[in-house]
Amino acid sequence: MSELFWDELKEKLRNSLSANEFDTWIKPIKFISADSDALTLSVPTAYNLVWLEDNYLQQMSELLNNLVGRLMRLHIHVAPESSPAAIPDETSPAITINERVDAFVRNHSLFPSYTFSRFIVGDNNTLAHAASLKVSNTPPGMAYSPLFLYGGVGLGKTHLMHAVGNALLKKNINLRIAYITSEEFMNLFVESIQKKSQTKFRNRFRNLDVLLLDDVQFLLKKEETMRELFNTFNALHGQKRQIIFTSDRTPQQLQLDGLDDRLASRMGGGLDVEIRGPSFETRKAILMAKANEEKVQIPNEVYYLIADSIETDIRSLENALNRVIAEHKLLNQEITVDMAKRILRPMFAEKNVRNVSFEDILRETSNVFKLSKTDIRSKSRTSQINQARQIVMLLSNNYIPMSLTEIAGELGREHPTIISGIRHIEGELQKNSRLKEKFDEIIENLKAR
Ligand code: ADP
Ligand code: MG
Repeated sequence: MSELFWDELKEKLRNSLSANEFDTWIKPIKFISADSDALTLSVPTAYNLVWLEDNYLQQMSELLNNLVGRLMRLHIHVAPESSPAAIPDETSPAITINERVDAFVRNHSLFPSYTFSRFIVGDNNTLAHAASLKVSNTPPGMAYSPLFLYGGVGLGKTHLMHAVGNALLKKNINLRIAYITSEEFMNLFVESIQKKSQTKFRNRFRNLDVLLLDDVQFLLKKEETMRELFNTFNALHGQKRQIIFTSDRTPQQLQLDGLDDRLASRMGGGLDVEIRGPSFETRKAILMAKANEEKVQIPNEVYYLIADSIETDIRSLENALNRVIAEHKLLNQEITVDMAKRILRPMFAEKNVRNVSFEDILRETSNVFKLSKTDIRSKSRTSQINQARQIVMLLSNNYIPMSLTEIAGELGREHPTIISGIRHIEGELQKNSRLKEKFDEIIENLKAR
């Protein structure tokens, strides 16, 4: 069987759903693989998975069986957009919809590529790694419950919590492990109220062996969701199930910032461990491991250059390395210090632009270009507007933890347009000194904000 079946299935779905439904739920699905009895697909978030499960999976499965003329398994798992094409290994069980199992609960929300073997242990995460390893080597709920990982953006919290999930699953394929962000948890909760399906929501979350709940700082001020999580926690904890939380701050700090007292005290009731920023040596080790995975040879000086210039977080390090590797692979350029400097200059030069938002970038860029924000968001392709828009793409990509898809969404564009826009404007900035002056002015204004 080939991808053609997926294309056909998609067409059938397109005909039976509204355009809006199709774009929201079916379009983000990616084809992974197909063989004679199973079709494997991925979706970007656990939230998408749950939605498909609740609303479309039955229909998809029937359409597929009709298309192929026999019973096919439909295997859907979550793979974040930024991670390498994640092909599930034998640890992820395929499901047939006829089994009526809940794909979300049946471990499909784990990112297969976030494993311990891909996690570099460094000075910044030794303790967090050791605690996570301990949890993954102990029956659920018997080590630290909960384990609470905290630290800044892009330092490996999400990666580690998935690593625990993947390792536990490898030992016992029948464990019910679910990963979800706090935002998705809230959205599902709110929907369950609207649809009067709270029982289903509770069954989903209270019958887990392991709950991985990411970025709980999101729940601040979300009173009702906090209460629901408190009850979820108690249900799981009472049955000795494992919970891992992550956050950008400690449970104590969350409490000071307004998290429900009882919930904060539960969160802090196990072990909380910080992940800090990586040292130079760890940054270099991570770069080397990533390049090795990509099977690319990189001169030592280039590792030095990148590790020395990007001190903030590991996601930015990966971004920098990926750009160098992309240029090397796509344009056949040899990787040298000069080449890396040229590509990464926009990332290095303005290291001290911090904590800016998309709106800040949009505002400062439109001011310097003497355009309106609406111009930048418009479909117009005059060269001024185009340049300004591409600068917004570049700056957002450099300074905001937004994915390319999110940037595309903000600007009403498609993902490939963002990639080509960034590449184009980086080239223009090298050649066009008037443009570079404007760019520098925007940076200055962002710093001065
Ligand atoms: P956080 O959740 O803390 O914001 P992530 O877990 O999403 O950070 O990590 C950001 C990126 O950096 C991911 O692609 C992740 O795989 C990678 N990463 C983080 N820490 C490490 C590490 N110690 N070794 C290898 N890759 C790492
Ligand atoms: Mg994270």
